[in-house]
Amino acid sequence: MAPLLSSRHLDFVLHEVLAAEQLSELPHFAGQDREVFDGILDSARKLAIDCFEPSYRLLDDHEPRLENGRVVLPAETEAALVQLREAGFFGAVQAPEHGGLGLPRTVANAAFLWLQAANVSIANYAFLTMSAAELLARHGTPDQHLRWMRPMVEGRFLGTMALSEPQAGSSLGDIRTTARPLPDGRYAIRGTKMWISGGEHDMAENIVHLMLARIEGAPAGVRGISLFIVPRKRLDAEGRPSVWNNVALSGLNHKLGQRGTVNTVLNVGEGGETIGEIVGGPGQGLACMFTMMNEARIAVSMGAVAHASAAYQHALAYARDRLQGRHPDAKDPASPQVPLVAHADVQRMLMQQKAAAEGGVALGLYLARLADLKQAAATAAEREDATLLLDFLTPVFKAWISEEMLAANFNAIQVLGGAGYTRDHPVELHFRDNRLNPIHEGTNGIQAIDLLGRKATMAGGRALRLFLDTVAATSGRASLAAEARALAAVTKRIVATTANLLALRETDGQRASLAHAPAYMELVGAATFAWIWLEQASVAARRRDGAADPAFYEGQIAACRWVFAHVLPRAHVAADRIALGAAAMTEIDPAWLTSD
Ligand SMILES: Cc1cc2nc3c(=O)[nH]c(=O)nc-3n(C[C@H](O)[C@H](O)[C@H](O)COP(=O)(O)OP(=O)(O)OC[C@H]3O[C@@H](n4cnc5c(N)ncnc54)[C@H](O)[C@@H]3O)c2cc1C
Repeated sequence: MAPLLSSRHLDFVLHEVLAAEQLSELPHFAGQDREVFDGILDSARKLAIDCFEPSYRLLDDHEPRLENGRVVLPAETEAALVQLREAGFFGAVQAPEHGGLGLPRTVANAAFLWLQAANVSIANYAFLTMSAAELLARHGTPDQHLRWMRPMVEGRFLGTMALSEPQAGSSLGDIRTTARPLPDGRYAIRGTKMWISGGEHDMAENIVHLMLARIEGAPAGVRGISLFIVPRKRLDAEGRPSVWNNVALSGLNHKLGQRGTVNTVLNVGEGGETIGEIVGGPGQGLACMFTMMNEARIAVSMGAVAHASAAYQHALAYARDRLQGRHPDAKDPASPQVPLVAHADVQRMLMQQKAAAEGGVALGLYLARLADLKQAAATAAEREDATLLLDFLTPVFKAWISEEMLAANFNAIQVLGGAGYTRDHPVELHFRDNRLNPIHEGTNGIQAIDLLGRKATMAGGRALRLFLDTVAATSGRASLAAEARALAAVTKRIVATTANLLALRETDGQRASLAHAPAYMELVGAATFAWIWLEQASVAARRRDGAADPAFYEGQIAACRWVFAHVLPRAHVAADRIALGAAAMTEIDPAWLTSD
């Protein structure tokens, strides 16, 4: 069986590019060291291979179903979650005083990548729970830490994020679920939640829904939204799950992929009272929820990276094995056939996948490192810089990377030819599973609007400046001079294009400017991807001489050159489209789209 990921590359990114061990010099991560990091990665890899991967296809074939009102899932899901719980994964990044392992996110996310690559449908239950615990760690009261967060850190309660409603997906300001204050300070919640992953099952002692609702009389729009802990079962005086909280399952959604993760429509407060506890304060709901959403945006795109990695490894093994045809200049029909990997077009498709998967790993773990520095860097200035850069890069990682990973899965199928289109190989399943990532956690269209409409001007443009300075620093150090120059040329276009779009906003309004958001995402995304590859190649160039495995380092430099030849030019195309006004969709009259 093909590996799920390149361990060698993961190791390279963690220790040679990102110097993960240096994080343990920060007081927040005191006591952590390389041995601890290697131990957790090793344990994740084993869990992935032994408990997660074997049921990957099975969970797709046997999607959750309803029997007598209960959700029935293959037993393999709960069995894998039990193993994960026993290994302490649910508390990977939480502080030891909350029962966690206190790991840096850089390492925890690298470990989690194994599980996502092996079986995303199971990994989803854990990532939702870990993100919910993180939200409560930051915004919950000490009492909420004890009663709700601690059991999630221990993996006894599982978490969900309950934002979407049938009429409110991208537009969360239009949610209708209401919260009526009760005399004891809690709230009675009423409404319908749509698309809730992990919303109903019997695999945990309790399910903790982190639910957005509007307190009666609250202002319209996002300012009127508050956040509530809405459990499946209420807790008794000792904190044990007791009576049902009237969170009723009204149906299951049947999906293209990620079928092993149950996806639900929930009605709350209909047959009786559904009790919720407020988190943060009235009107603070979306601000608090962004803790979870930002974590989730990085996690979903790490999932996309995991799909690209696993499918690439499978396609590579297949291409090495299958003999087909001869080189164009081999004239003798009786000469031996060559493996697929010897053909130029197959090499192109494999290189795109390698560049996507390994570039995605490097960028995703770079973001995780920023999250660690945001929390734990020694000075306030370093923490602020890390926060701004992370905020700027999060929509880019979510949107640009998730689409590039989907392109990698497209190529993985193509490398296998007809075999790739069958269920005999996992590449079609990775493709289907991965198709969700540009949709959930804020569609990629919404991410592009976020990048241009908010992040490019954030803190008076300082977030963008920090990004450009980071890119310039890498270029300044890089021994690949031509690539460094090419990147510098693109950053100039980012500066000019941003200024032009801001000017357009002043003259023609936000709508005209934001119509260019997808092209702006392509410009910044291709530049970001090229930059992380230049960073990796620069390290590789320093290390290859005298290395035990020079081919590995040569492969990093070759992939970087490939990205500069094939991906970075897309940034210029995007900038040209914006300059010409061709990227703006405001010029499209919806009347032209009618078909009858
Ligand atoms: C499998 C799955 C799991 C999910 N899990 C969860 C979960 O656990 N919890 C949860 O709360 N939600 C969940 N969601 C919901 C998900 O976050 C939403 O589907 C997503 O936010 C998009 O909302 P929508 O489906 O209503 O699409 P819409 O908002 O109707 O959007 C449709 C299209 O219009 C575009 N669009 C919408 N508004 C604008 C705009 N203002 N400008 C430009 N383009 C726009 C979108 O980009 C998209 O392309 C899940 C969804 C799926 C499919």
